Amino acid sequence: MQPKGINSVGEFRCPVCSGQTWRVKQEIHSHLRNIPDGLTRPPEIRVIIGKCEICGLEFNRDWLEGKDFKTLYTNNKIYSVADYAYKNGIRPKYTIDPIRILETYRKPPGDILEIGFLDTSLLEELSRHDWQVEGVDLDNLAVQHACQLGFTAFCGDIHDVYFRGKEYEVIIAFGVLEHIGQPVAFLRRVHQLLSPNGLLLLQLPHPGSLNAFLSRFSRQGWDMYCEPGHIFHYRKEHLLKLLDDHSFRILHYETSTIRIRGKIPFSPVRLPKFERQIFKLVHELPLFLWIYTLVLISLDIFQAGDTHLLIAQKIGIEKKASAIGNRTGKGLSKAGMRAR
Ligand SMILES: [Zn+2]
Repeated sequence: MQPKGINSVGEFRCPVCSGQTWRVKQEIHSHLRNIPDGLTRPPEIRVIIGKCEICGLEFNRDWLEGKDFKTLYTNNKIYSVADYAYKNGIRPKYTIDPIRILETYRKPPGDILEIGFLDTSLLEELSRHDWQVEGVDLDNLAVQHACQLGFTAFCGDIHDVYFRGKEYEVIIAFGVLEHIGQPVAFLRRVHQLLSPNGLLLLQLPHPGSLNAFLSRFSRQGWDMYCEPGHIFHYRKEHLLKLLDDHSFRILHYETSTIRIRGKIPFSPVRLPKFERQIFKLVHELPLFLWIYTLVLISLDIFQAGDTHLLIAQKIGIEKKASAIGNRTGKGLSKAGMRAR
């Protein structure tokens, strides 16, 4: 059952500011003949992007229509079957290494939970750094794969009884929060699952990026608006407010940009042929990789990179007792996929 007052048709309650008025920001009818590597969307898709009139938080209007996004990850397998990293075992590389950032704030050993891990590359890397890792994902193919490799992995969401009484020093959710229909309930549960002073690492698409800005000049719109299951599009200020309201202190914020696969941030449109050439050059010419990485890092200097990368620390007990519409822990549409 959907939480009352948030997903019923015609009713809007912004999870960031509790605003109740919204408007259509953009209608996208996007058609791509070939889907470039890194996207899981169908060739043709229609999306209506709404915007909170108070704080400007953008969202997929299907959320208001009560669409069951969860089936995307449990029935259709669109992410495990189509995901590039899952298929090829190659994790997209970003300008910033999140493990290096994490370990400036917390050293192993310790228990880490990765929510929506999908492919096991991050679990493997964390294990090599002496972290004890567990994963949870809605996609049972991903979970089976992780278990075969010897990881402790659970198929379900973080509200499941499996997590009763558990605590983790660190919780990682990369490419997840944008898929969550009830972010307040999600953050509350994460807060419960963290040990005192535990850390939450988030990475998610950045609508304030140069990439998103330039995509306005394309009929196709920003890729991330069209990815199946992307519900909310948080700007930096939205993330900071949401986390602050739910008793997290921001320790670290920067942007990070995909380095060797995905859309070229300086182009308004996808150019698959050109992207493949860049990918090839990056692999074959170390000097090219170095220069290209420097160019991408310049975006992060101005916090205009492709994704938010954020570390927040749990403080005290949750200070905001009043629910913002979605106080139930049921029916979360947590997803297991990567932002790119
Ligand atoms: Zn709002």
